[in-house]
Amino acid sequence: MKLCRFGPAGAERPGIIAADGSVRDLSAHMLDLDADAWSAASLARLSALDLDSLPRVEGEVRFGSPIRRPGHFIAIGLNYADHAAESGMPVPAEPVVFSKAPSCICGPDDAVIIPKGSTKLDWEVELAFVIGTRAWQVSEADALSHVAGYMICNDVSERAWQIEGTGQWIKGKSAPTFGPLGPWIVTSDEVPDPQALDLYLDLNGTRVQTGSTRTMIFPVATLVHFLSHKMVLEPGDVITTGTPPGVGMGKKPPVYLKAGDVMQLGISGLGTQRQTVVADA
Ligand code: ZN
Repeated sequence: MKLCRFGPAGAERPGIIAADGSVRDLSAHMLDLDADAWSAASLARLSALDLDSLPRVEGEVRFGSPIRRPGHFIAIGLNYADHAAESGMPVPAEPVVFSKAPSCICGPDDAVIIPKGSTKLDWEVELAFVIGTRAWQVSEADALSHVAGYMICNDVSERAWQIEGTGQWIKGKSAPTFGPLGPWIVTSDEVPDPQALDLYLDLNGTRVQTGSTRTMIFPVATLVHFLSHKMVLEPGDVITTGTPPGVGMGKKPPVYLKAGDVMQLGISGLGTQRQTVVADA
């Protein structure tokens, strides 16, 4: 299943993508796609629905984030060896973990806002996943059974705020609109191998990032296993898994986003995103 949220920002409704590509309204069957929506029971109930019986959403559709406000939005840094190299950082011996403030989450095609004081705004196409069932100290063999589905994340990053001060990366990863998610979450049953997905990001029509989840240092199962030994992963938590090479910081000379730039990104089977960069009003 492809599950989404559609409608005006802050007033999204739950939806599901039908075989013909149309969006069908799930409002009669659930309040929203929040943390509880991703349990096996909830997904089984949704998969039993006859999509043809659901109202078709007509006209231009705005997608919101496919999950409403996760409890935790965790990110992994330097999870591709070639991206670590372009960042001038060593390949980590264990996953580099940081957070993104859940308040940074926005729809996949919403404008990305350059916050006041930002000078080094950058892009990162990433595979993200949502937790379906509580995970505490789970084995690697069992890890993927806790993942409900997958989506695209643009881990928008302010490099000066991330790196040039002191302390944790969360500072450069969390401003409003720094977390476009979606357009939908593809449930795990339709993503048999999360380590066989191609990723790309185009800046103003030019391909700047190309990669495959095949070259992740720590694959999804390892990440769930590792994180679950340090903290409880709860239903609805979102984890984004790191970016392949080609970010602006790694260009020679570096390239940073400016108002009017357009980012288009995608992952095989998970759809596409498109964001225009705008100055803070
Ligand atoms: Zn990232």
